[in-house]
Amino acid sequence: MKKKTFFGFAIALILSFSLFSCGQKKTESDAPKEVVKTTKHEHAVINTSDDAIKELKNGNIRFTSGKLENTDYKEQIENTKADQHPHSVILSCLDSRVPPETIFDQGIGNIFVARVAGNLADENILGSLEYGAKVKGCKLIVVLGHSMCGAVKGAVDNAELGHLTQLVDQIKPAITGDKSNPDKMLDETSRNNVKLTIEKILKSSEVLASLVKDGKLKIVGAYYDVATGRVEFMD
Ligand SMILES: [Zn+2]
Repeated sequence: MKKKTFFGFAIALILSFSLFSCGQKKTESDAPKEVVKTTKHEHAVINTSDDAIKELKNGNIRFTSGKLENTDYKEQIENTKADQHPHSVILSCLDSRVPPETIFDQGIGNIFVARVAGNLADENILGSLEYGAKVKGCKLIVVLGHSMCGAVKGAVDNAELGHLTQLVDQIKPAITGDKSNPDKMLDETSRNNVKLTIEKILKSSEVLASLVKDGKLKIVGAYYDVATGRVEFMD
Protein backbone atom coordinates (compact mmCIF):
# COMPACT_ATOMS: atom_id res chain seq x y z
CA MET A 1 0.00 0.00 0.00
CA LYS A 2 2.79 2.26 0.95
CA LYS A 3 4.75 1.24 -2.18
CA LYS A 4 1.75 1.93 -4.40
CA THR A 5 1.28 5.30 -2.83
CA PHE A 6 4.92 6.10 -3.35
CA PHE A 7 4.76 5.24 -7.08
CA GLY A 8 1.56 7.17 -7.44
CA PHE A 9 3.16 10.13 -5.81
CA ALA A 10 6.26 9.80 -7.99
CA ILE A 11 4.21 9.63 -11.20
CA ALA A 12 2.14 12.57 -10.13
CA LEU A 13 5.32 14.46 -9.37
CA ILE A 14 6.83 13.66 -12.79
CA LEU A 15 3.61 14.60 -14.55
CA SER A 16 3.25 17.82 -12.69
CA PHE A 17 6.91 18.65 -13.26
CA SER A 18 6.51 17.96 -17.01
CA LEU A 19 3.39 20.04 -17.18
CA PHE A 20 5.04 22.76 -15.19
CA SER A 21 8.07 22.69 -17.45
CA CYS A 22 5.97 22.78 -20.60
CA GLY A 23 3.83 25.51 -19.16
CA GLN A 24 6.84 27.49 -18.13
CA LYS A 25 8.53 27.05 -21.48
CA LYS A 26 5.40 28.17 -23.29
CA THR A 27 5.04 31.14 -21.00
CA GLU A 28 8.62 32.23 -21.58
CA SER A 29 8.40 31.98 -25.36
CA ASP A 30 5.07 33.74 -25.52
CA ALA A 31 5.88 36.46 -23.06
CA PRO A 32 6.98 39.72 -24.61
CA LYS A 33 10.65 40.26 -23.90
CA GLU A 34 11.14 43.25 -21.70
CA VAL A 35 12.62 45.86 -23.96
CA VAL A 36 15.09 48.03 -22.17
CA LYS A 37 14.13 51.26 -23.80
CA THR A 38 16.82 53.84 -23.99
CA THR A 39 16.31 57.54 -24.06
CA LYS A 40 17.76 57.74 -27.53
CA HIS A 41 15.89 60.68 -28.80
CA GLU A 42 12.77 60.30 -30.83
CA HIS A 43 13.69 63.30 -32.92
CA ALA A 44 17.14 62.24 -34.02
CA VAL A 45 19.66 59.45 -33.83
CA ILE A 46 22.53 60.84 -31.80
CA ASN A 47 25.84 59.15 -32.48
CA THR A 48 28.23 62.08 -32.62
CA SER A 49 28.98 65.36 -30.87
CA ASP A 50 27.58 67.25 -33.85
CA ASP A 51 24.36 65.21 -33.72
CA ALA A 52 24.02 66.22 -30.06
CA ILE A 53 24.58 69.91 -30.85
CA LYS A 54 22.00 69.68 -33.64
CA GLU A 55 19.46 68.07 -31.31
CA LEU A 56 19.97 70.74 -28.64
CA LYS A 57 19.62 73.49 -31.25
CA ASN A 58 16.43 71.91 -32.58
CA GLY A 59 15.16 71.44 -29.01
CA ASN A 60 15.66 75.15 -28.30
CA ILE A 61 13.76 76.00 -31.50
CA ARG A 62 10.90 73.77 -30.29
CA PHE A 63 11.04 75.56 -26.93
CA THR A 64 10.98 79.10 -28.32
CA SER A 65 8.28 78.27 -30.84
CA GLY A 66 6.04 76.71 -28.19
CA LYS A 67 6.20 73.27 -29.80
CA LEU A 68 7.62 71.19 -26.95
CA GLU A 69 7.52 67.48 -27.68
CA ASN A 70 9.27 65.94 -24.68
CA THR A 71 6.55 66.49 -22.14
CA ASP A 72 5.15 62.99 -21.64
CA TYR A 73 6.92 62.49 -18.33
CA LYS A 74 4.96 59.37 -17.47
CA GLU A 75 6.22 57.64 -20.62
CA GLN A 76 9.75 58.94 -20.08
CA ILE A 77 9.82 57.57 -16.53
CA GLU A 78 8.75 54.18 -17.89
CA ASN A 79 11.40 54.29 -20.63
CA THR A 80 14.22 55.19 -18.25
CA LYS A 81 13.40 53.06 -15.22
CA ALA A 82 16.10 50.49 -16.02
CA ASP A 83 18.91 52.65 -17.35
CA GLN A 84 19.85 56.03 -18.75
CA HIS A 85 21.67 57.02 -21.93
CA PRO A 86 21.90 60.81 -22.01
CA HIS A 87 23.63 62.23 -25.09
CA SER A 88 25.03 65.39 -23.44
CA VAL A 89 26.08 67.00 -20.19
CA ILE A 90 25.04 70.59 -19.58
CA LEU A 91 26.95 72.67 -17.05
CA SER A 92 24.58 75.50 -16.26
CA CYS A 93 24.00 78.27 -13.74
CA LEU A 94 21.78 78.02 -10.67
CA ASP A 95 19.50 80.71 -12.13
CA SER A 96 15.83 79.69 -11.95
CA ARG A 97 15.24 81.06 -15.46
CA VAL A 98 17.69 78.65 -17.07
CA PRO A 99 16.37 75.08 -16.69
CA PRO A 100 18.34 73.08 -19.32
CA GLU A 101 15.85 70.22 -19.71
CA THR A 102 13.13 72.72 -20.55
CA ILE A 103 14.98 75.22 -22.74
CA PHE A 104 16.40 72.37 -24.84
CA ASP A 105 13.13 70.36 -24.76
CA GLN A 106 14.93 67.23 -23.56
CA GLY A 107 12.55 65.87 -20.92
CA ILE A 108 13.70 63.07 -18.61
CA GLY A 109 16.78 60.98 -19.34
CA ASN A 110 18.28 62.80 -22.33
CA ILE A 111 20.79 65.11 -20.68
CA PHE A 112 22.87 65.21 -17.51
CA VAL A 113 22.69 68.61 -15.86
CA ALA A 114 25.21 70.05 -13.41
CA ARG A 115 24.19 73.40 -11.99
CA VAL A 116 26.13 75.83 -9.87
CA ALA A 117 25.94 79.62 -9.65
CA GLY A 118 28.15 81.06 -12.36
CA ASN A 119 28.50 77.70 -14.19
CA LEU A 120 31.96 77.15 -12.71
CA ALA A 121 33.95 73.93 -12.83
CA ASP A 122 35.20 72.87 -9.40
CA GLU A 123 36.42 69.40 -8.43
CA ASN A 124 32.92 68.04 -7.90
CA ILE A 125 31.68 69.41 -11.20
CA LEU A 126 34.74 67.98 -12.99
CA GLY A 127 34.01 64.58 -11.49
CA SER A 128 30.41 64.83 -12.64
CA LEU A 129 31.46 65.79 -16.17
CA GLU A 130 33.91 62.89 -16.29
CA TYR A 131 31.16 60.51 -15.18
CA GLY A 132 28.87 61.74 -17.93
CA ALA A 133 31.45 61.68 -20.70
CA LYS A 134 33.72 58.76 -19.83
CA VAL A 135 31.47 56.40 -17.90
CA LYS A 136 28.16 57.08 -19.65
CA GLY A 137 29.54 57.97 -23.07
CA CYS A 138 28.04 61.41 -23.57
CA LYS A 139 29.23 63.00 -26.81
CA LEU A 140 28.93 66.60 -25.76
CA ILE A 141 29.54 68.92 -22.83
CA VAL A 142 27.90 72.33 -23.01
CA VAL A 143 28.97 75.10 -20.66
CA LEU A 144 25.88 77.27 -20.61
CA GLY A 145 26.16 80.88 -19.52
CA HIS A 146 23.30 83.34 -19.62
CA SER A 147 22.34 87.00 -19.67
CA MET A 148 21.53 88.90 -16.45
CA CYS A 149 23.58 86.43 -14.38
CA GLY A 150 23.48 87.35 -10.69
CA ALA A 151 26.67 85.43 -9.92
CA VAL A 152 28.60 87.27 -12.63
CA LYS A 153 27.15 90.57 -11.45
CA GLY A 154 28.25 89.65 -7.91
CA ALA A 155 31.80 89.21 -9.19
CA VAL A 156 31.72 92.56 -10.99
CA ASP A 157 30.28 94.29 -7.90
CA ASN A 158 32.66 92.55 -5.44
CA ALA A 159 29.78 90.96 -3.54
CA GLU A 160 30.66 89.53 -0.13
CA LEU A 161 28.45 87.06 1.72
CA GLY A 162 29.43 83.86 3.50
CA HIS A 163 30.53 81.19 1.01
CA LEU A 164 29.32 83.32 -1.88
CA THR A 165 32.42 85.51 -1.56
CA GLN A 166 34.78 82.71 -2.63
CA LEU A 167 32.36 81.67 -5.38
CA VAL A 168 32.24 85.08 -7.05
CA ASP A 169 36.03 85.37 -6.59
CA GLN A 170 36.32 82.42 -9.01
CA ILE A 171 34.42 84.42 -11.64
CA LYS A 172 36.57 87.56 -11.28
CA PRO A 173 39.30 86.47 -13.73
CA ALA A 174 36.61 86.60 -16.43
CA ILE A 175 35.73 90.26 -15.82
CA THR A 176 36.13 92.20 -19.02
CA GLY A 177 34.60 95.16 -20.82
CA ASP A 178 33.93 98.81 -20.22
CA LYS A 179 32.60 99.77 -16.78
CA SER A 180 30.81 102.77 -18.31
CA ASN A 181 28.48 100.32 -20.04
CA PRO A 182 27.45 97.92 -17.22
CA ASP A 183 24.96 95.84 -19.25
CA LYS A 184 27.46 95.22 -22.03
CA MET A 185 30.18 94.50 -19.48
CA LEU A 186 27.98 91.96 -17.71
CA ASP A 187 27.23 90.27 -21.03
CA GLU A 188 30.87 90.17 -22.12
CA THR A 189 32.03 88.93 -18.72
CA SER A 190 29.42 86.16 -18.73
CA ARG A 191 30.58 85.01 -22.15
CA ASN A 192 34.22 85.20 -21.11
CA ASN A 193 33.38 83.20 -17.99
CA VAL A 194 32.03 80.41 -20.20
CA LYS A 195 35.23 80.47 -22.24
CA LEU A 196 37.44 80.34 -19.12
CA THR A 197 35.37 77.52 -17.63
CA ILE A 198 35.94 75.44 -20.79
CA GLU A 199 39.66 76.19 -20.62
CA LYS A 200 39.73 75.12 -16.97
CA ILE A 201 37.89 71.88 -17.75
CA LEU A 202 40.41 70.98 -20.45
CA LYS A 203 43.37 71.99 -18.31
CA SER A 204 42.18 70.24 -15.14
CA SER A 205 40.75 67.00 -16.50
CA GLU A 206 43.06 64.64 -18.35
CA VAL A 207 40.10 62.28 -18.79
CA LEU A 208 38.05 64.87 -20.68
CA ALA A 209 40.99 66.36 -22.57
CA SER A 210 41.86 62.89 -23.81
CA LEU A 211 38.29 62.23 -25.02
CA VAL A 212 38.33 65.56 -26.87
CA LYS A 213 41.72 64.76 -28.41
CA ASP A 214 40.41 61.39 -29.60
CA GLY A 215 37.39 63.01 -31.22
CA LYS A 216 34.95 61.25 -28.88
CA LEU A 217 33.79 64.40 -27.12
CA LYS A 218 33.22 68.07 -27.85
CA ILE A 219 33.10 70.76 -25.18
CA VAL A 220 31.31 73.87 -26.39
CA GLY A 221 30.05 77.10 -24.92
CA ALA A 222 26.52 78.41 -25.25
CA TYR A 223 24.72 81.50 -24.08
CA TYR A 224 21.07 81.73 -23.04
CA ASP A 225 19.14 84.97 -23.30
CA VAL A 226 16.63 85.14 -20.42
CA ALA A 227 14.63 87.77 -22.35
CA THR A 228 14.04 85.68 -25.48
CA GLY A 229 14.52 82.04 -24.44
CA ARG A 230 17.04 81.60 -27.24
CA VAL A 231 20.32 79.71 -26.90
CA GLU A 232 23.26 80.85 -28.97
CA PHE A 233 26.04 78.34 -29.46
CA MET A 234 29.43 80.03 -29.21
CA ASP A 235 32.31 79.23 -31.52
ZN1 LIG B 1 23.64 82.92 -13.49
